[in-house]
Amino acid sequence: MMLGSDVSSLSTDAATAAAQGLSIVVPVYNEAPGLALFHERLATLATTLKERHGLDCEVVYVDDGSADGTLAIAQSLPATTLDVQVVSLSRNFGKEAALMAGIDHFTKGAVLFMDGDGQHPPALVEQLVRHWIVEGYDVVYTAKAHRDNESFLRRQAVRGFYALINWGARQKIPEDAGDFRLLSPRAAAALRQLPERNRFFKGLATWIGFRQLRVDYEPAAREHGVTSFNPKQLIGLSIEGLTSFSVAPLRLASLLGLLLAFGAFLFGISILWETWVSGKSVPGYPSLVVGLMTIGGVQLLMIGVLGEYIGKILSELKARPIYFVAEHSVKRSAPDSTAQTTDRTAAE
Ligand code: UDP
Ligand code: MG
Repeated sequence: MMLGSDVSSLSTDAATAAAQGLSIVVPVYNEAPGLALFHERLATLATTLKERHGLDCEVVYVDDGSADGTLAIAQSLPATTLDVQVVSLSRNFGKEAALMAGIDHFTKGAVLFMDGDGQHPPALVEQLVRHWIVEGYDVVYTAKAHRDNESFLRRQAVRGFYALINWGARQKIPEDAGDFRLLSPRAAAALRQLPERNRFFKGLATWIGFRQLRVDYEPAAREHGVTSFNPKQLIGLSIEGLTSFSVAPLRLASLLGLLLAFGAFLFGISILWETWVSGKSVPGYPSLVVGLMTIGGVQLLMIGVLGEYIGKILSELKARPIYFVAEHSVKRSAPDSTAQTTDRTAAE
């Protein structure tokens, strides 16, 4: 019985890699105002990729339960230079679930993930594709070149988060890396095989290994609307990422326990010393209360950390689907005519 997974049959030379095409997965949530323009840019990009690399493209829009007209607009987008799939989820499941739906539905070889709000410049895509086809990289990920426009507090929080999640990890998740990344066919196949329900996409895409390359870029401003991630959600996502990806918080708990015990031991020795040397006994009340509160607080905190992990086990055990697809449509671009073939499957 083989306990690992062999995707070596998918490692191909440049020409075969390009022949398998590229799927572009775009999660969209309330992106109606900018979607048509975004699609136009993608269509131009697809033409460029076809001309320069002979690459056939497909876009998979995953509508994550938008409340505005996003779904209707997505379904009306033409498949001129690239195939268009629209996968509509039954409600808002969150970006990670939408990405997962994209991974499950794309049909070409390689896959590229990008946001539908215009922050990930299509112009950069050609460069990412080149790193894959010409240089043979498997995972080409982008990272924010700098965080100058963010507050000091936020930057420290980000740093702390990565320090914690990467603590003792063999494969470190790069700081500042985003979801805008390209995976070669074998890396995409590897990502598809990961079975867990609690996904932390950035982490998993790093964990699979292969030849990875970092490309720094400056994210554009959002074309319209505001980000759907407020600080509270970001903290939630960080806890989610930490607990589904690393056991560092549990190790921290053990370490803290050890430190406290050691501190208590030293304190005990110092009391004994004082009594022996000066003969006066230490007034007990304040030190007792401080000690009790410290121990009590730390214990409650660590029970909370344990609880997070137990919650994760519970949700893996329940094995609920990560998302439901309510509607699914596919439009194939006809290579030499304007005719498009459409087929639809409802309530998949
Ligand atoms: N998104 C999604 N589901 C959500 C929230 C966001 O599919 O619940 C999509 C959104 O439409 C966009 C991408 O995920 O294409 C990134 O979202 P956003 O721009 O709000 O996040 P930020 O760029 O601030 O990280
Ligand atoms: Mg954005």
